[in-house]
Amino acid sequence: MRAVIVGAGIAGLAVAQGLRLIGWDTEIYEQAETLEPLGAGLSLSANALRALRTLGLYDAVTAAAQPIEQLELLDRGGRRLQSTDFEELGRRYGHLAMAVLHRGDLHKALLSELPEKMIRTSMECVGARKADNRIVLDFANGKAVETDFVLACDGIHSAVRKAQFPESREHFARYTCWRAISPGVPGGMNQARLTESWGAGKRFGLAALPGERVYWFACCGAERTDDPALAELDLERVKDTFADFHEPIPEVLNRTSADSLIWTDILDLEPMPSFTQGKIVLLGDAAHAVTPDLGQGAGLAIEDAAVLAALLGRLPIQQALSEYDVRRIDRARRIANASRLYARVAQWSNPLVVPLRNMVVSRIPQSFMDRQLNAVLDIGFEPIRSAA
Ligand SMILES: Cc1cc2nc3c(=O)[nH]c(=O)nc-3n(C[C@H](O)[C@H](O)[C@H](O)COP(=O)(O)OP(=O)(O)OC[C@H]3O[C@@H](n4cnc5c(N)ncnc54)[C@H](O)[C@@H]3O)c2cc1C
Repeated sequence: MRAVIVGAGIAGLAVAQGLRLIGWDTEIYEQAETLEPLGAGLSLSANALRALRTLGLYDAVTAAAQPIEQLELLDRGGRRLQSTDFEELGRRYGHLAMAVLHRGDLHKALLSELPEKMIRTSMECVGARKADNRIVLDFANGKAVETDFVLACDGIHSAVRKAQFPESREHFARYTCWRAISPGVPGGMNQARLTESWGAGKRFGLAALPGERVYWFACCGAERTDDPALAELDLERVKDTFADFHEPIPEVLNRTSADSLIWTDILDLEPMPSFTQGKIVLLGDAAHAVTPDLGQGAGLAIEDAAVLAALLGRLPIQQALSEYDVRRIDRARRIANASRLYARVAQWSNPLVVPLRNMVVSRIPQSFMDRQLNAVLDIGFEPIRSAA
């Protein structure tokens, strides 16, 4: 069977690996001119790591990652509000429960078993249409590719989705985010701990990466996307904004080089009624972009790939696609809603409400937190095998 994948991001590479395992012949069309290691850090939790194991990529990914034993929510002074023991969870699961790595290293690991010639770069898809019983993909360079089966993995602004589901809508989460990787690890920083520190209308996340580096992200409330005032916010202004946060945040910001700063307005996708149309299937952010608050966007993309490949390995295509919708729509919707809720609470800016929020959060019973976490992490995957 032959399929075309649009987009060589996390979803595209993961599903290419899944289809390779069931013996399908695939080509990936990617808009970028080259496959450069872009981006900053990413956390992957147990669900994503288990899906990677199903795809045969767990060792390659974890070899490039920093294992996380503790996830801590702090206030801006560094006092603990909540803590999750991922080391204990890992013991229970029999594999790592959380890891953080450079996005470029994740891409490298996802590419590790794929033939290089499978990816065609400088191919920006601008539309997908049906012609007779086939699908035609149009590209910005004037080329057109005809195929029987398309996997749209072209991210939140997916051209394929917009052609097939013109009513789909992105949604601004009313906050914006700066990210970077800084060299060196401050003395006393626990490298197996991921922290997120909450202030009023702003928060800061920190995690060590392999190779003596630190990944950080900084979020602030915003009224609109592409705000020119925020676009001007350079590293010096980010330092000022977080100057009242606990160490090592100011130190990490001081170590960061200004040209490594990445600025992104945070969007998600309004829930889709279906991820499939005929023989076009959406995966990853193209299907269900979520805000990054629970660190689940890439995880969901990898899950999609593992679930779809297993289904296509044992069922006729149309049946596999119906089952894919059944298994993925609800899960993605629940995680999207939970991520939005977390973002709303984490971004509260009223200085009178913030101490109260922090007090309530610090008193949430561990058993409640564990139940919420289990609902996200505890998903199983069937093995990926070809029926042939
Ligand atoms: C600030 C921030 C922090 C995040 N942190 C985390 C985290 O810690 N953990 C986590 O799990 N998730 C995180 N996410 C979410 C995660 O980045 C996404 O969910 C993930 O990248 C989705 O992968 P994807 O392959 O679906 O889309 P993308 O990563 O967007 O990849 C899409 C690919 O398609 C290509 N493409 C786009 N349009 C076209 C076109 N028209 N034609 C051809 N190619 C095209 C792109 O160049 C790209 O290669 C974060 C997101 C943000 C914004």
